[in-house]
Amino acid sequence: MDLLIFWDEAAPSGIQSAFLRDLNPLLPIRSRVCESPVVVSGFIPSRKQTNATVLLDSLDLYKKRSGEKDLILLVVSDDLCRSCDEYLFGLARRTTGNAVVSTARMDSEFYGKASCDEDLLDRLVKESAHEVGHLLGLAHCQNAECIMFNPLLLDDMSRQKRWFCPTCQENLQTVE
Ligand SMILES: [Zn+2]
Ligand SMILES: [Zn+2]
Repeated sequence: MDLLIFWDEAAPSGIQSAFLRDLNPLLPIRSRVCESPVVVSGFIPSRKQTNATVLLDSLDLYKKRSGEKDLILLVVSDDLCRSCDEYLFGLARRTTGNAVVSTARMDSEFYGKASCDEDLLDRLVKESAHEVGHLLGLAHCQNAECIMFNPLLLDDMSRQKRWFCPTCQENLQTVE
């Protein structure tokens, strides 16, 4: 089983190879990036946000139609939410092996600061590894430095290391 990373056309370009270079050593599976064949839907005009659940539904449908068996991670730039969450950095659905991450709130520009590719990349790598961790069966972790810590704010993400704590690492290694 591999990880397919669908890069939406509106997601930041030019960082895909650096992203793969940084993400691959963290995960026990191989990953590759390709252009996303899935059209982003689920935009909610009143919130100017996209419903992450609808995006996961689109991935589920894509998988059903194409017969794709690999895990899929969709990278978008749309700001994500769902009915019970004001905003989301990402969301995973383990039952179908699909996840989505958004770069919207990982870009310093969102907070009125100068955009920095390095910071954006660092956050995207951590959040992506986090969601793939869920796809591989990991739950949230209490260790604030662990990738599986649930980051609610950007500061939480900055505190996280590109690292699975020993317990999470052990659980990761039991993945087939
Ligand atoms: Zn999580
Ligand atoms: Zn952990």
